[in-house]
Amino acid sequence: MSVLDEVLSANEAYAASFDKGGLALPPARGFAILTCMDARLDPAKYAGLSEGDAHVIRNAGGRASDDAIRSLVISYKLLGTSEWFVIHHTDCGMEFFTDEVITGLLANSLETAALGDDGFYDVGTGPGSDHGQHIDWLTISDQTQAVVDDVVRIKEHPLVPPRIPVHGFLYDVRTGRLIEVPVPSDESAA
Ligand SMILES: [Zn+2]
Repeated sequence: MSVLDEVLSANEAYAASFDKGGLALPPARGFAILTCMDARLDPAKYAGLSEGDAHVIRNAGGRASDDAIRSLVISYKLLGTSEWFVIHHTDCGMEFFTDEVITGLLANSLETAALGDDGFYDVGTGPGSDHGQHIDWLTISDQTQAVVDDVVRIKEHPLVPPRIPVHGFLYDVRTGRLIEVPVPSDESAA
């Protein structure tokens, strides 16, 4: 069965017993989570969510990119969320390369790179593209600091009101546990 067939089959089973058609648009529990796209993370399970409960915004690293902040602002301004979580995780792929590395890999070819003991290396024959040098890939060099940086970036954004608590966490992929990352008040006030 192809991936497409698998997805459509799963959806058929889901829709057959679907009983969530009456949910309201605003998230019922009034909060939002910004987290990584990593396939090992299931926010519905690790945070106990059902359909209609909360906004979940995902990208590579769970970073507070301009687009993540766009979603968070819509989340509170139009849909009423009043508490946010930034949840990165251990063993994040965003720790394993730098802007220079991915830019170089893309310049070489558009094939999927391989991961060896010394990091990613390119196995394609090209041509690549230099478009990657225009992108801030928001890679991570320090797990804890990246959470702090993203919480602070969100709290300090001019479109984000100070009344919204922004909690920082690391999800441990070995235990499934959320570990709080304290954000120094001088950093959030800086
Ligand atoms: Zn990740």
